[in-house]
Amino acid sequence: VTPIQEQIAQFRKMATDDPENELAHFRLGQLLLNEGQFADAAASFQRTLLLSPQFSRAFQLLGTCLVKLNRRDEAVRVLKEGHAVADQRGDNIPREEMAKMLTELGEQPPAPARPAPRAAGGGTGFRCSSPRCFAGGAARQLAKPPMNDALGREIYEHVCADCWEQWLRRDSIKVINEGHLDLSTEQGQFYYDSFMRETLGLV
Ligand SMILES: [Zn+2]
Repeated sequence: VTPIQEQIAQFRKMATDDPENELAHFRLGQLLLNEGQFADAAASFQRTLLLSPQFSRAFQLLGTCLVKLNRRDEAVRVLKEGHAVADQRGDNIPREEMAKMLTELGEQPPAPARPAPRAAGGGTGFRCSSPRCFAGGAARQLAKPPMNDALGREIYEHVCADCWEQWLRRDSIKVINEGHLDLSTEQGQFYYDSFMRETLGLV
Protein backbone atom coordinates (compact mmCIF):
# COMPACT_ATOMS: atom_id res chain seq x y z
CA VAL A 1 0.00 0.00 0.00
CA THR A 2 1.51 3.31 -1.10
CA PRO A 3 0.98 6.55 0.84
CA ILE A 4 -1.37 7.79 -1.88
CA GLN A 5 -3.46 4.63 -1.71
CA GLU A 6 -3.61 5.12 2.03
CA GLN A 7 -4.84 8.69 1.53
CA ILE A 8 -7.41 7.53 -0.98
CA ALA A 9 -8.71 4.97 1.52
CA GLN A 10 -8.81 7.65 4.21
CA PHE A 11 -10.80 10.13 2.14
CA ARG A 12 -13.06 7.43 0.74
CA LYS A 13 -13.97 6.48 4.29
CA MET A 14 -14.50 10.13 5.17
CA ALA A 15 -16.80 10.61 2.17
CA THR A 16 -18.73 7.43 2.98
CA ASP A 17 -19.12 8.20 6.68
CA ASP A 18 -20.34 11.71 5.95
CA PRO A 19 -21.80 11.79 2.42
CA GLU A 20 -22.66 15.49 2.77
CA ASN A 21 -19.01 16.46 3.19
CA GLU A 22 -18.23 18.09 -0.15
CA LEU A 23 -14.60 18.64 0.76
CA ALA A 24 -14.02 14.96 1.35
CA HIS A 25 -15.53 14.18 -2.06
CA PHE A 26 -13.42 16.90 -3.64
CA ARG A 27 -10.13 15.74 -2.09
CA LEU A 28 -10.93 12.15 -2.96
CA GLY A 29 -11.59 13.23 -6.54
CA GLN A 30 -8.25 15.04 -6.70
CA LEU A 31 -6.35 12.03 -5.41
CA LEU A 32 -8.10 9.67 -7.82
CA LEU A 33 -7.45 12.06 -10.70
CA ASN A 34 -3.74 12.15 -9.84
CA GLU A 35 -3.76 8.35 -9.83
CA GLY A 36 -5.36 8.21 -13.27
CA GLN A 37 -8.65 6.74 -11.95
CA PHE A 38 -10.73 9.11 -14.06
CA ALA A 39 -14.16 7.48 -13.84
CA ASP A 40 -14.08 7.31 -10.04
CA ALA A 41 -12.65 10.81 -9.85
CA ALA A 42 -15.46 12.12 -12.07
CA ALA A 43 -18.05 10.56 -9.75
CA SER A 44 -16.45 12.30 -6.76
CA PHE A 45 -16.48 15.70 -8.49
CA GLN A 46 -20.10 15.20 -9.54
CA ARG A 47 -20.97 14.51 -5.93
CA THR A 48 -19.04 17.63 -4.87
CA LEU A 49 -21.03 19.75 -7.32
CA LEU A 50 -24.36 18.37 -6.14
CA LEU A 51 -23.47 19.57 -2.64
CA SER A 52 -21.69 22.75 -3.65
CA PRO A 53 -22.82 23.99 -7.08
CA GLN A 54 -20.67 27.14 -6.84
CA PHE A 55 -17.41 25.19 -6.59
CA SER A 56 -15.85 26.29 -9.88
CA ARG A 57 -12.66 24.26 -9.50
CA ALA A 58 -14.71 21.08 -9.18
CA PHE A 59 -16.20 21.85 -12.63
CA GLN A 60 -12.70 22.30 -14.01
CA LEU A 61 -11.45 18.99 -12.62
CA LEU A 62 -14.63 17.14 -13.62
CA GLY A 63 -14.07 18.48 -17.15
CA THR A 64 -10.49 17.20 -17.04
CA CYS A 65 -11.72 13.69 -16.10
CA LEU A 66 -14.34 13.67 -18.86
CA VAL A 67 -11.76 14.70 -21.47
CA LYS A 68 -9.51 11.85 -20.30
CA LEU A 69 -12.49 9.47 -20.56
CA ASN A 70 -13.17 10.67 -24.14
CA ARG A 71 -16.62 11.91 -23.08
CA ARG A 72 -16.18 15.07 -25.11
CA ASP A 73 -19.75 16.39 -25.30
CA GLU A 74 -20.23 15.99 -21.58
CA ALA A 75 -16.90 17.70 -20.97
CA VAL A 76 -17.95 20.67 -23.12
CA ARG A 77 -21.26 20.98 -21.27
CA VAL A 78 -19.58 20.82 -17.83
CA LEU A 79 -16.85 23.27 -18.81
CA LYS A 80 -19.34 25.80 -20.20
CA GLU A 81 -21.43 25.60 -17.06
CA GLY A 82 -18.32 25.84 -14.89
CA HIS A 83 -17.05 28.77 -16.91
CA ALA A 84 -20.32 30.64 -16.26
CA VAL A 85 -20.14 29.88 -12.52
CA ALA A 86 -16.48 30.97 -12.31
CA ASP A 87 -17.25 34.11 -14.29
CA GLN A 88 -20.17 34.99 -12.07
CA ARG A 89 -18.14 34.50 -8.91
CA GLY A 90 -15.00 36.16 -10.21
CA ASP A 91 -12.89 32.98 -9.90
CA ASN A 92 -10.36 34.03 -12.52
CA ILE A 93 -7.94 31.12 -12.48
CA PRO A 94 -10.50 28.31 -12.93
CA ARG A 95 -12.34 30.43 -15.50
CA GLU A 96 -9.20 30.88 -17.61
CA GLU A 97 -8.29 27.21 -17.28
CA MET A 98 -11.74 26.17 -18.46
CA ALA A 99 -11.63 28.66 -21.35
CA LYS A 100 -8.32 27.10 -22.41
CA MET A 101 -9.76 23.59 -22.22
CA LEU A 102 -12.80 24.60 -24.27
CA THR A 103 -10.53 26.08 -26.94
CA GLU A 104 -8.53 22.85 -27.03
CA LEU A 105 -11.81 20.98 -27.57
CA GLY A 106 -12.52 23.23 -30.56
CA GLU A 107 -15.21 25.20 -28.75
CA GLN A 108 -15.52 28.94 -28.45
CA PRO A 109 -15.27 29.82 -24.74
CA PRO A 110 -18.14 32.08 -23.66
CA ALA A 111 -17.27 35.77 -23.44
CA PRO A 112 -16.88 36.94 -19.85
CA ALA A 113 -20.20 38.31 -18.64
CA ARG A 114 -18.68 40.76 -16.23
CA PRO A 115 -16.02 43.10 -17.59
CA ALA A 116 -14.40 44.09 -14.29
CA PRO A 117 -13.68 41.80 -11.33
CA ARG A 118 -14.38 44.57 -8.82
CA ALA A 119 -17.95 45.37 -7.85
CA ALA A 120 -18.94 48.74 -9.29
CA GLY A 121 -20.96 49.95 -6.34
CA GLY A 122 -22.71 48.79 -3.21
CA GLY A 123 -20.02 46.20 -2.55
CA THR A 124 -17.51 46.16 0.27
CA GLY A 125 -14.53 46.12 -2.12
CA PHE A 126 -13.26 42.98 -0.40
CA ARG A 127 -13.03 39.80 -2.44
CA CYS A 128 -12.93 36.43 -0.72
CA SER A 129 -10.60 33.73 -2.04
CA SER A 130 -12.71 30.78 -0.89
CA PRO A 131 -14.07 28.77 -3.84
CA ARG A 132 -17.26 28.18 -1.89
CA CYS A 133 -17.91 31.76 -0.79
CA PHE A 134 -21.44 32.94 -1.38
CA ALA A 135 -20.86 36.50 -0.17
CA GLY A 136 -19.62 37.84 -3.54
CA GLY A 137 -19.38 41.64 -3.52
CA ALA A 138 -20.83 41.71 0.00
CA ALA A 139 -17.88 39.79 1.49
CA ARG A 140 -16.74 41.27 4.81
CA GLN A 141 -13.12 41.30 5.88
CA LEU A 142 -12.20 40.00 9.34
CA ALA A 143 -11.70 42.68 11.97
CA LYS A 144 -8.12 41.50 12.48
CA PRO A 145 -5.84 38.58 11.54
CA PRO A 146 -7.10 35.46 13.34
CA MET A 147 -3.56 34.37 14.25
CA ASN A 148 -0.40 36.28 14.99
CA ASP A 149 1.71 34.84 12.19
CA ALA A 150 2.17 34.89 8.41
CA LEU A 151 -0.77 32.50 7.88
CA GLY A 152 -3.00 34.71 10.03
CA ARG A 153 -2.10 37.69 7.86
CA GLU A 154 -2.74 35.73 4.69
CA ILE A 155 -6.17 34.69 5.93
CA TYR A 156 -6.95 38.25 6.95
CA GLU A 157 -6.01 39.54 3.50
CA HIS A 158 -7.84 36.90 1.44
CA VAL A 159 -10.62 35.17 3.36
CA CYS A 160 -13.91 36.80 4.34
CA ALA A 161 -15.24 36.71 7.90
CA ASP A 162 -18.07 34.29 7.03
CA CYS A 163 -15.84 31.74 5.36
CA TRP A 164 -13.32 31.87 8.18
CA GLU A 165 -16.11 31.38 10.72
CA GLN A 166 -17.44 28.41 8.77
CA TRP A 167 -13.99 26.84 8.57
CA LEU A 168 -13.46 27.31 12.29
CA ARG A 169 -16.86 26.11 13.45
CA ARG A 170 -17.63 23.40 10.94
CA ASP A 171 -15.06 22.30 8.39
CA SER A 172 -11.93 22.19 10.55
CA ILE A 173 -13.71 20.02 13.12
CA LYS A 174 -15.00 17.74 10.40
CA VAL A 175 -11.53 17.34 8.96
CA ILE A 176 -10.08 16.36 12.31
CA ASN A 177 -12.94 14.08 13.34
CA GLU A 178 -13.57 12.31 10.08
CA GLY A 179 -10.08 12.37 8.65
CA HIS A 180 -8.85 10.87 11.91
CA LEU A 181 -5.98 13.31 11.78
CA ASP A 182 -3.48 13.33 14.58
CA LEU A 183 -2.32 16.93 14.69
CA SER A 184 0.64 16.02 16.87
CA THR A 185 2.24 14.31 13.87
CA GLU A 186 3.86 16.08 10.95
CA GLN A 187 1.70 14.14 8.50
CA GLY A 188 -1.52 15.02 10.31
CA GLN A 189 -0.56 18.67 10.40
CA PHE A 190 0.32 18.57 6.70
CA TYR A 191 -3.13 17.20 5.71
CA TYR A 192 -4.87 19.65 7.96
CA ASP A 193 -2.99 22.59 6.44
CA SER A 194 -3.51 21.47 2.86
CA PHE A 195 -7.21 20.91 3.53
CA MET A 196 -7.51 24.37 5.02
CA ARG A 197 -5.74 26.04 2.10
CA GLU A 198 -7.96 24.17 -0.34
CA THR A 199 -11.12 25.11 1.52
CA LEU A 200 -10.23 28.76 1.84
CA GLY A 201 -8.75 29.11 -1.64
CA LEU A 202 -5.25 29.98 -0.42
CA VAL A 203 -2.67 28.77 -2.89
ZN1 LIG B 1 -15.96 34.15 1.81
